[in-house]
Amino acid sequence: MPIESRTRAWVEIDLDALRANFQVVRQLAGAERGVLPMVKANAYGLGVEHIVGALEREDPWGYGVATVEEGVALRDLGIERPVLVVTPIPPAAEGHAIAARLTPSISDLASLARLRAAAETHGSDGVDVHVEIDTGMGRSGFDWRQAAGWAPSLADAAGKRVRIVGVFTHFHSADEPDGESPTLEQAARFAEALEHLPIDRAHLVVHTANSAASLRWPHLSGDFVRPGIFLYGGHAAPSIADEDVVPAPRTVASIRARLSLVREMPAGSTAGYGATYAAVRAERWATAAIGYGDGLPRAYGNRGWALVRGQRVPVRGRVSMDSVVLDVSDVPEVTAGDVATFVGADGDAHITLDEAAALAGTISYEILTRMGNRLPRVYGGEGER
Ligand SMILES: *Cc1c(COP(=O)(O)O)cnc(C)c1O
Repeated sequence: MPIESRTRAWVEIDLDALRANFQVVRQLAGAERGVLPMVKANAYGLGVEHIVGALEREDPWGYGVATVEEGVALRDLGIERPVLVVTPIPPAAEGHAIAARLTPSISDLASLARLRAAAETHGSDGVDVHVEIDTGMGRSGFDWRQAAGWAPSLADAAGKRVRIVGVFTHFHSADEPDGESPTLEQAARFAEALEHLPIDRAHLVVHTANSAASLRWPHLSGDFVRPGIFLYGGHAAPSIADEDVVPAPRTVASIRARLSLVREMPAGSTAGYGATYAAVRAERWATAAIGYGDGLPRAYGNRGWALVRGQRVPVRGRVSMDSVVLDVSDVPEVTAGDVATFVGADGDAHITLDEAAALAGTISYEILTRMGNRLPRVYGGEGER
Protein backbone atom coordinates (compact mmCIF):
# COMPACT_ATOMS: atom_id res chain seq x y z
CA MET A 1 0.00 0.00 0.00
CA PRO A 2 1.53 3.38 -0.94
CA ILE A 3 2.07 5.83 1.90
CA GLU A 4 -0.31 8.79 1.71
CA SER A 5 1.50 12.00 0.61
CA ARG A 6 0.59 13.99 3.69
CA THR A 7 2.09 11.50 6.13
CA ARG A 8 5.43 13.19 6.76
CA ALA A 9 6.28 16.41 4.91
CA TRP A 10 4.93 17.80 1.67
CA VAL A 11 4.31 20.82 -0.54
CA GLU A 12 0.73 21.82 -1.25
CA ILE A 13 0.29 23.58 -4.56
CA ASP A 14 -2.79 25.67 -5.17
CA LEU A 15 -3.40 25.71 -8.93
CA ASP A 16 -6.26 28.20 -8.57
CA ALA A 17 -3.85 30.65 -6.96
CA LEU A 18 -1.39 30.02 -9.80
CA ARG A 19 -4.04 30.90 -12.35
CA ALA A 20 -5.18 33.93 -10.35
CA ASN A 21 -1.58 35.22 -10.34
CA PHE A 22 -1.36 34.62 -14.09
CA GLN A 23 -4.54 36.65 -14.56
CA VAL A 24 -3.10 39.56 -12.56
CA VAL A 25 -0.05 39.60 -14.82
CA ARG A 26 -2.17 39.40 -17.95
CA GLN A 27 -4.39 42.23 -16.79
CA LEU A 28 -1.53 44.54 -15.81
CA ALA A 29 0.47 43.69 -18.93
CA GLY A 30 -2.46 44.80 -21.07
CA ALA A 31 -4.67 43.02 -23.56
CA GLU A 32 -2.32 43.74 -26.46
CA ARG A 33 0.43 41.65 -24.87
CA GLY A 34 0.84 37.91 -24.55
CA VAL A 35 2.11 36.06 -21.51
CA LEU A 36 4.90 33.50 -21.75
CA PRO A 37 5.19 31.78 -18.37
CA MET A 38 8.70 30.73 -17.42
CA VAL A 39 8.53 27.07 -16.40
CA LYS A 40 12.26 26.37 -16.11
CA ALA A 41 13.69 24.29 -13.26
CA ASN A 42 10.59 22.08 -13.09
CA ALA A 43 8.36 25.17 -12.93
CA TYR A 44 10.44 26.61 -10.06
CA GLY A 45 10.27 23.27 -8.29
CA LEU A 46 6.49 22.99 -8.32
CA GLY A 47 6.19 20.23 -10.92
CA VAL A 48 6.08 21.27 -14.56
CA GLU A 49 3.44 18.78 -15.65
CA HIS A 50 0.75 20.02 -13.28
CA ILE A 51 1.76 23.66 -13.60
CA VAL A 52 1.57 23.57 -17.39
CA GLY A 53 -1.67 21.59 -17.20
CA ALA A 54 -3.23 24.46 -15.24
CA LEU A 55 -1.61 27.25 -17.29
CA GLU A 56 -2.81 25.74 -20.57
CA ARG A 57 -6.30 26.83 -19.55
CA GLU A 58 -5.12 30.46 -19.59
CA ASP A 59 -4.01 30.21 -23.21
CA PRO A 60 -0.44 31.51 -22.79
CA TRP A 61 1.58 32.76 -25.78
CA GLY A 62 4.10 29.98 -25.20
CA TYR A 63 6.47 28.74 -22.50
CA GLY A 64 9.98 29.66 -21.47
CA VAL A 65 12.55 27.10 -20.34
CA ALA A 66 16.26 27.20 -19.57
CA THR A 67 17.43 23.97 -21.16
CA VAL A 68 16.81 21.82 -24.22
CA GLU A 69 15.87 18.91 -21.92
CA GLU A 70 13.16 21.03 -20.30
CA GLY A 71 11.82 21.96 -23.72
CA VAL A 72 11.77 18.34 -24.88
CA ALA A 73 9.85 17.45 -21.69
CA LEU A 74 7.14 19.99 -22.63
CA ARG A 75 6.81 18.44 -26.08
CA ASP A 76 6.56 15.01 -24.44
CA LEU A 77 3.63 16.40 -22.44
CA GLY A 78 1.93 17.27 -25.72
CA ILE A 79 2.50 21.03 -25.60
CA GLU A 80 2.30 22.49 -29.11
CA ARG A 81 2.88 26.18 -28.33
CA PRO A 82 6.21 27.92 -28.93
CA VAL A 83 8.82 26.83 -26.38
CA LEU A 84 11.59 29.36 -25.97
CA VAL A 85 14.95 28.25 -24.54
CA VAL A 86 16.22 31.41 -22.87
CA THR A 87 19.79 30.38 -22.11
CA PRO A 88 22.41 29.73 -24.80
CA ILE A 89 22.31 26.07 -25.79
CA PRO A 90 25.59 24.16 -25.61
CA PRO A 91 27.17 22.71 -28.75
CA ALA A 92 25.74 19.26 -29.51
CA ALA A 93 22.30 20.11 -28.13
CA GLU A 94 21.18 21.78 -31.38
CA GLY A 95 19.89 18.64 -33.07
CA HIS A 96 17.64 17.86 -30.11
CA ALA A 97 16.33 21.41 -30.05
CA ILE A 98 15.51 21.26 -33.75
CA ALA A 99 13.90 17.83 -33.55
CA ALA A 100 11.63 19.04 -30.71
CA ARG A 101 10.76 22.26 -32.60
CA LEU A 102 12.10 24.40 -29.77
CA THR A 103 12.99 28.06 -30.23
CA PRO A 104 16.63 28.53 -29.18
CA SER A 105 17.97 31.93 -28.22
CA ILE A 106 21.13 33.08 -29.91
CA SER A 107 23.88 35.09 -28.25
CA ASP A 108 26.67 35.03 -30.81
CA LEU A 109 27.36 34.40 -34.48
CA ALA A 110 29.27 31.17 -33.80
CA SER A 111 26.28 29.48 -32.20
CA LEU A 112 24.05 30.76 -34.98
CA ALA A 113 26.40 29.08 -37.46
CA ARG A 114 26.33 25.85 -35.45
CA LEU A 115 22.55 25.89 -35.42
CA ARG A 116 22.49 26.47 -39.15
CA ALA A 117 24.81 23.52 -39.71
CA ALA A 118 22.64 21.33 -37.49
CA ALA A 119 19.49 22.42 -39.34
CA GLU A 120 21.14 21.53 -42.65
CA THR A 121 22.38 18.13 -41.42
CA HIS A 122 19.07 17.44 -39.82
CA GLY A 123 17.29 18.07 -43.10
CA SER A 124 14.52 19.81 -41.19
CA ASP A 125 12.36 22.55 -42.65
CA GLY A 126 14.12 25.00 -40.42
CA VAL A 127 14.26 26.42 -36.96
CA ASP A 128 12.93 29.61 -35.42
CA VAL A 129 15.29 31.53 -33.13
CA HIS A 130 15.20 34.61 -30.93
CA VAL A 131 18.22 36.88 -30.76
CA GLU A 132 19.19 37.92 -27.25
CA ILE A 133 20.76 41.31 -26.73
CA ASP A 134 22.88 41.88 -23.63
CA THR A 135 22.05 45.33 -22.28
CA GLY A 136 23.84 44.93 -18.95
CA MET A 137 22.99 41.51 -17.54
CA GLY A 138 26.36 40.22 -18.72
CA ARG A 139 25.54 36.52 -18.81
CA SER A 140 24.35 36.07 -22.39
CA GLY A 141 23.27 37.96 -25.47
CA PHE A 142 24.95 39.95 -28.23
CA ASP A 143 26.61 43.05 -26.82
CA TRP A 144 24.34 46.07 -27.40
CA ARG A 145 27.41 48.31 -27.89
CA GLN A 146 28.60 46.24 -30.84
CA ALA A 147 25.28 46.02 -32.70
CA ALA A 148 26.65 47.80 -35.76
CA GLY A 149 29.19 44.96 -36.00
CA TRP A 150 27.11 41.80 -35.52
CA ALA A 151 23.63 42.85 -36.65
CA PRO A 152 24.41 43.10 -40.40
CA SER A 153 25.91 39.58 -40.31
CA LEU A 154 22.88 37.90 -38.75
CA ALA A 155 21.01 37.11 -41.94
CA ASP A 156 24.08 35.59 -43.61
CA ALA A 157 25.00 33.49 -40.59
CA ALA A 158 21.41 32.24 -40.28
CA GLY A 159 21.11 31.05 -43.86
CA LYS A 160 17.78 29.82 -45.17
CA ARG A 161 16.92 27.27 -42.54
CA VAL A 162 17.30 29.45 -39.44
CA ARG A 163 14.61 32.10 -39.12
CA ILE A 164 15.12 35.01 -36.75
CA VAL A 165 11.61 35.60 -35.43
CA GLY A 166 12.22 37.33 -32.10
CA VAL A 167 14.53 39.63 -30.17
CA PHE A 168 14.81 40.07 -26.44
CA THR A 169 16.78 41.36 -23.51
CA HIS A 170 16.67 40.85 -19.74
CA PHE A 171 16.53 43.59 -17.08
CA HIS A 172 18.85 43.21 -14.11
CA SER A 173 17.21 45.53 -11.57
CA ALA A 174 13.47 45.39 -12.20
CA ASP A 175 12.84 44.16 -8.65
CA GLU A 176 14.92 46.88 -6.97
CA PRO A 177 13.19 49.81 -5.29
CA ASP A 178 15.36 52.21 -7.32
CA GLY A 179 15.27 49.98 -10.39
CA GLU A 180 13.52 52.45 -12.68
CA SER A 181 16.51 54.35 -13.99
CA PRO A 182 18.70 51.28 -14.74
CA THR A 183 15.71 49.64 -16.41
CA LEU A 184 15.01 52.68 -18.57
CA GLU A 185 18.70 52.75 -19.45
CA GLN A 186 18.61 49.09 -20.51
CA ALA A 187 15.42 49.69 -22.51
CA ALA A 188 17.16 52.55 -24.34
CA ARG A 189 20.20 50.35 -25.09
CA PHE A 190 17.87 47.66 -26.39
CA ALA A 191 15.98 50.10 -28.63
CA GLU A 192 19.27 51.41 -29.98
CA ALA A 193 20.51 47.91 -30.83
CA LEU A 194 17.18 47.07 -32.50
CA GLU A 195 17.77 49.90 -34.96
CA HIS A 196 20.67 47.94 -36.39
CA LEU A 197 18.76 44.75 -37.05
CA PRO A 198 18.32 43.99 -40.72
CA ILE A 199 14.83 42.63 -40.02
CA ASP A 200 11.59 44.55 -40.13
CA ARG A 201 10.00 45.07 -36.69
CA ALA A 202 6.70 43.75 -38.06
CA HIS A 203 8.34 40.34 -38.56
CA LEU A 204 9.73 40.10 -35.04
CA VAL A 205 8.33 39.50 -31.59
CA VAL A 206 10.09 41.63 -29.00
CA HIS A 207 10.17 40.90 -25.27
CA THR A 208 12.03 42.09 -22.18
CA ALA A 209 10.08 41.70 -18.96
CA ASN A 210 10.30 39.28 -16.02
CA SER A 211 7.62 39.39 -13.30
CA ALA A 212 8.79 42.65 -11.75
CA ALA A 213 9.18 44.52 -15.04
CA SER A 214 5.88 43.27 -16.41
CA LEU A 215 4.03 44.54 -13.33
CA ARG A 216 5.91 47.83 -12.99
CA TRP A 217 6.62 48.91 -16.57
CA PRO A 218 4.41 46.97 -18.97
CA HIS A 219 4.98 49.65 -21.63
CA LEU A 220 8.66 48.59 -21.79
CA SER A 221 7.90 44.91 -22.24
CA GLY A 222 7.17 44.55 -25.95
CA ASP A 223 4.88 41.88 -27.40
CA PHE A 224 4.76 39.49 -24.47
CA VAL A 225 5.92 39.30 -20.87
CA ARG A 226 7.98 36.49 -19.31
CA PRO A 227 6.82 36.12 -15.70
CA GLY A 228 8.09 33.40 -13.41
CA ILE A 229 8.25 34.00 -9.67
CA PHE A 230 5.02 35.99 -9.35
CA LEU A 231 3.02 33.14 -10.87
CA TYR A 232 4.46 30.80 -8.23
CA GLY A 233 3.66 33.06 -5.30
CA GLY A 234 6.85 35.07 -4.86
CA HIS A 235 6.58 38.83 -4.57
CA ALA A 236 7.91 40.38 -7.78
CA ALA A 237 9.76 43.10 -5.87
CA PRO A 238 9.93 42.06 -2.20
CA SER A 239 11.33 45.36 -0.98
CA ILE A 240 8.41 47.33 -2.44
CA ALA A 241 5.53 46.93 -0.01
CA ASP A 242 3.16 49.34 -1.78
CA GLU A 243 0.41 47.23 -3.38
CA ASP A 244 -0.44 50.05 -5.78
CA VAL A 245 3.07 49.80 -7.23
CA VAL A 246 3.53 46.01 -7.17
CA PRO A 247 0.64 43.72 -6.23
CA ALA A 248 1.22 40.87 -3.80
CA PRO A 249 0.80 37.40 -5.29
CA ARG A 250 -1.45 34.73 -3.88
CA THR A 251 0.41 31.94 -2.11
CA VAL A 252 0.81 28.97 -4.45
CA ALA A 253 3.16 26.64 -2.56
CA SER A 254 2.70 25.76 1.12
CA ILE A 255 5.43 23.77 2.84
CA ARG A 256 4.13 21.58 5.66
CA ALA A 257 5.31 18.75 7.90
CA ARG A 258 3.84 16.54 10.60
CA LEU A 259 4.95 16.72 14.19
CA SER A 260 6.31 13.26 14.87
CA LEU A 261 7.00 13.70 18.57
CA VAL A 262 5.85 16.11 21.30
CA ARG A 263 7.67 16.09 24.64
CA GLU A 264 7.91 18.03 27.88
CA MET A 265 11.55 19.01 28.35
CA PRO A 266 13.10 20.16 31.63
CA ALA A 267 15.03 23.43 31.83
CA GLY A 268 18.55 22.97 30.51
CA SER A 269 17.63 20.42 27.82
CA THR A 270 19.59 21.06 24.66
CA ALA A 271 18.43 20.93 21.05
CA GLY A 272 20.23 19.84 17.90
CA TYR A 273 23.85 19.47 16.73
CA GLY A 274 26.23 21.60 18.73
CA ALA A 275 23.58 21.96 21.46
CA THR A 276 23.21 25.59 20.43
CA TYR A 277 19.97 26.03 22.34
CA ALA A 278 19.19 25.15 25.96
CA ALA A 279 15.69 25.31 27.39
CA VAL A 280 15.43 28.34 29.67
CA ARG A 281 12.55 26.80 31.64
CA ALA A 282 10.51 23.65 31.40
CA GLU A 283 9.45 23.71 27.75
CA ARG A 284 7.34 21.65 25.39
CA TRP A 285 9.22 20.69 22.23
CA ALA A 286 7.88 19.16 19.06
CA THR A 287 9.96 17.40 16.44
CA ALA A 288 8.78 18.31 12.94
CA ALA A 289 9.50 15.69 10.28
CA ILE A 290 11.31 17.94 7.83
CA GLY A 291 14.93 19.04 7.56
CA TYR A 292 17.50 20.51 5.23
CA GLY A 293 17.43 17.23 3.30
CA ASP A 294 13.93 18.29 2.24
CA GLY A 295 14.98 21.84 1.39
CA LEU A 296 14.17 23.47 4.72
CA PRO A 297 16.93 26.10 4.95
CA ARG A 298 19.59 25.22 7.48
CA ALA A 299 19.76 28.96 8.13
CA TYR A 300 16.52 28.51 10.09
CA GLY A 301 18.53 27.20 13.03
CA ASN A 302 17.49 29.23 16.12
CA ARG A 303 15.79 31.85 13.94
CA GLY A 304 13.08 30.30 11.76
CA TRP A 305 9.39 30.00 12.49
CA ALA A 306 6.58 27.62 11.78
CA LEU A 307 2.84 27.75 12.39
CA VAL A 308 1.23 25.11 14.59
CA ARG A 309 -2.50 25.26 15.32
CA GLY A 310 -2.57 28.78 13.91
CA GLN A 311 0.23 30.03 16.19
CA ARG A 312 3.78 31.06 15.43
CA VAL A 313 6.36 28.83 17.09
CA PRO A 314 10.15 29.24 16.98
CA VAL A 315 12.80 26.80 15.73
CA ARG A 316 15.15 25.67 18.51
CA GLY A 317 18.71 24.60 17.78
CA ARG A 318 20.13 23.69 14.38
CA VAL A 319 18.09 22.17 11.60
CA SER A 320 18.98 18.49 11.05
CA MET A 321 18.83 16.71 7.70
CA ASP A 322 15.50 15.05 8.47
CA SER A 323 13.95 16.95 11.35
CA VAL A 324 13.83 20.17 13.29
CA VAL A 325 12.77 21.05 16.84
CA LEU A 326 10.00 23.60 17.47
CA ASP A 327 9.13 25.18 20.80
CA VAL A 328 5.40 24.60 21.21
CA SER A 329 5.24 25.55 24.90
CA ASP A 330 2.52 28.10 24.17
CA VAL A 331 0.34 25.84 22.07
CA PRO A 332 -2.10 23.98 24.28
CA GLU A 333 -3.48 20.67 23.00
CA VAL A 334 -0.57 20.21 20.59
CA THR A 335 -0.05 16.58 19.73
CA ALA A 336 1.96 14.30 17.47
CA GLY A 337 0.38 14.26 14.01
CA ASP A 338 -0.37 18.00 14.09
CA VAL A 339 0.85 19.95 11.09
CA ALA A 340 3.69 22.50 11.16
CA THR A 341 3.51 25.04 8.33
CA PHE A 342 6.80 26.63 7.28
CA VAL A 343 5.38 28.51 4.27
CA GLY A 344 1.69 29.20 3.82
CA ALA A 345 -1.41 29.75 5.93
CA ASP A 346 -2.66 27.99 9.05
CA GLY A 347 -5.89 29.47 10.35
CA ASP A 348 -5.46 33.25 10.44
CA ALA A 349 -1.68 33.04 10.61
CA HIS A 350 0.44 33.14 7.48
CA ILE A 351 4.13 32.93 6.59
CA THR A 352 4.70 34.21 3.09
CA LEU A 353 7.30 32.72 0.80
CA ASP A 354 9.17 36.02 0.93
CA GLU A 355 9.17 36.11 4.72
CA ALA A 356 10.57 32.56 4.73
CA ALA A 357 13.24 33.58 2.22
CA ALA A 358 14.21 36.65 4.23
CA LEU A 359 14.49 34.56 7.41
CA ALA A 360 16.88 32.25 5.58
CA GLY A 361 18.84 35.13 4.05
CA THR A 362 17.90 34.14 0.52
CA ILE A 363 15.26 34.79 -2.16
CA SER A 364 11.92 33.15 -2.81
CA TYR A 365 13.29 31.52 -5.98
CA GLU A 366 15.85 29.56 -4.00
CA ILE A 367 13.35 28.37 -1.38
CA LEU A 368 11.14 26.98 -4.17
CA THR A 369 13.79 25.42 -6.37
CA ARG A 370 15.54 23.78 -3.41
CA MET A 371 12.48 21.92 -2.21
CA GLY A 372 13.70 18.36 -2.29
CA ASN A 373 12.53 15.28 -4.12
CA ARG A 374 11.57 13.85 -0.75
CA LEU A 375 8.66 16.30 -0.49
CA PRO A 376 5.65 15.01 -2.41
CA ARG A 377 3.87 17.74 -4.39
CA VAL A 378 0.17 17.67 -3.59
CA TYR A 379 -2.03 19.57 -6.01
CA GLY A 380 -5.30 21.28 -5.26
CA GLY A 381 -7.66 23.79 -6.82
CA GLU A 382 -9.84 23.89 -9.89
CA GLY A 383 -6.84 23.93 -12.17
CA GLU A 384 -6.32 20.29 -11.36
CA ARG A 385 -9.38 19.06 -13.21
C1 LIG B 1 13.78 33.23 -15.23
C2 LIG B 1 13.60 34.25 -16.27
C3 LIG B 1 12.47 35.08 -16.28
C4 LIG B 1 11.45 35.07 -15.16
O1 LIG B 1 11.92 35.87 -14.09
P1 LIG B 1 11.05 36.09 -12.78
O2 LIG B 1 11.86 37.04 -12.00
O3 LIG B 1 10.94 34.76 -12.13
O4 LIG B 1 9.74 36.61 -13.21
C5 LIG B 1 12.29 35.92 -17.36
N1 LIG B 1 13.18 35.97 -18.37
C6 LIG B 1 14.31 35.22 -18.37
C7 LIG B 1 15.26 35.34 -19.51
C8 LIG B 1 14.56 34.35 -17.33
O5 LIG B 1 15.67 33.61 -17.33
